[in-house]
Amino acid sequence: MRWARPASEFHRVTNSMLYDTSNIFAKIIRGEIPAVKVLEDERCIAFMDIMPWSDGHTLVIPKVQAMGLFDAPPDALAALIKQTQIVARAVNAAFQPDGLRLVQNNSPGAGQTVFHLHFHIVPCYNDVPLRLGNAVMANLAVLQEHAQRIRNALT
Ligand code: AMP
Repeated sequence: MRWARPASEFHRVTNSMLYDTSNIFAKIIRGEIPAVKVLEDERCIAFMDIMPWSDGHTLVIPKVQAMGLFDAPPDALAALIKQTQIVARAVNAAFQPDGLRLVQNNSPGAGQTVFHLHFHIVPCYNDVPLRLGNAVMANLAVLQEHAQRIRNALT
């Protein structure tokens, strides 16, 4: 049970929620599970969303332990938005969508399902509805091809 783990595994961020170091993005940061990465530096990682809302849907996360906007250290937020801009430009160049949406959910009430801070970079295409609420697991080869297109567009 979540609360039975040692207190050292958690970082209190609000009165009611704790950072859980076993969340899936913490495992990606530690290299315990794979991700289709497009960019990584000492502070952030960008990788393909495994259940994309549209072609090119990319996530950007800080390496610091933060659940969302409220508990993130400002310097980590600054690094995160800088990498998000770099990756968003590359996604835009690679996929040439009609628009690009940036999403960041805080708490289940807003739709957050992974409790490690992340920005969604979501290309929007005219006449192609976003797969919001009906996304399916992507084909790995397709995700890798999309990631390569984004990496090629990084400047
Ligand atoms: P949110 O609902 O804002 O917390 O978004 C979490 C996102 O993480 C969803 O769009 C999931 O499809 C995505 N996701 C969950 N697990 C993985 C994973 N292992 N690799 C890539 N994306 C993931």
